[in-house]
Amino acid sequence: MRSSAKHTSLPAKGNAAVQNADLADIAARRSPEEILAGEVSNYALFLDCDGTLLDIAPTPDEVHVPGGLADLLTRITQHLDGAVAVLTGRQLDEIDVLLEPWQLIGAGVHGAELRTKPGGPITQVAERLPVSLEEQVLRRAQHLPGIIAEPKGPGIAVHYRQAPHLKNALESELRAIITEYSDDLVLCPGRKLFEIIPAGHSKGTALETFAAMPKFAGRRPIMIGDDVGDLPAFAAAARLDGFALRVAGEHFGRDDVELNGPADVISWLERLAQRLTG
Ligand SMILES: [Mg+2]
Repeated sequence: MRSSAKHTSLPAKGNAAVQNADLADIAARRSPEEILAGEVSNYALFLDCDGTLLDIAPTPDEVHVPGGLADLLTRITQHLDGAVAVLTGRQLDEIDVLLEPWQLIGAGVHGAELRTKPGGPITQVAERLPVSLEEQVLRRAQHLPGIIAEPKGPGIAVHYRQAPHLKNALESELRAIITEYSDDLVLCPGRKLFEIIPAGHSKGTALETFAAMPKFAGRRPIMIGDDVGDLPAFAAAARLDGFALRVAGEHFGRDDVELNGPADVISWLERLAQRLTG
C-alpha cells in the first residue's frame, strides 16, 4: 500500500535558525586555528565537496577543480593513515572524475553509496529510485525552463539555480511526486536544488559507518560542509567528540561560519598538511 512520503528527515530551511544555534554550540568548542593547534595526527577528516572544496558553478558539470587539490587530499590521507572520506550528494564516480587519478574513501548520494577503501568498489547501500519516479521528475524538468534534473541512481537532484523563481512550484511538484511512492524517500533541500534521496541514509549515517572502521576508529572526526545535507554529519561528528567546521555560502551566513568559502577551506587544509608533516 502506498503511504504518504515524509517530507524530510533533514531540517528544512525554516528550521535553519534552530539548527544553526545548535551547531554554534558545537562549533564554539574549537575554531579552525585551535583545531590546527590540536593533536592533528589523531584526526579523521570528513569533507563535503560542492561549496566546500569547490566553488558552486552555474551547473554541476561546470565546477572548477583547483590545481593541486587532489594531491593535497592524498597527502593528508597518507599522513592520517587513510582516515579521510568525502561525503557528498554527488555519485562517487563523479567525484573520481573530479579528483582523478585518486579514488578516495567516501559516501555518495548522501550515504546511499559507499566506498570503504581507496580505489575499492562502490557499494550501493540503498535501492535505485523507481524508474517511473525518475521519469516523472525528468519529464517535469523538461517542461520547466532552467530546471535541470540529474538522476543519481538511488537519488535524483533537481537544480533551480538558473530559474530561482520556480523554487516553490518545484518543491510542491516534487513533494507531490514522492507522495505517490512510499515513505522510503525524503526531499532534501540544498543550495539552489532539491534532492530526492532514500530515507534512513545521510552523511551522518555515512560518517558513523566510517568512524567504526579500523582506519577511523578512535580518531577525532572533523566534518567540513556548507549545506543542509551536512547537518547530520556535523551532529554525528559532535556525538563522536569531534568538530564541525561550517563553510559560508547560500545556507550559512558569514556570521555563522568558521570558514569563509572553498578557498578558505583549501588554505586550512594546506595548513593541516603542513602541521601533519611537521
Ligand atoms: Mg556542499
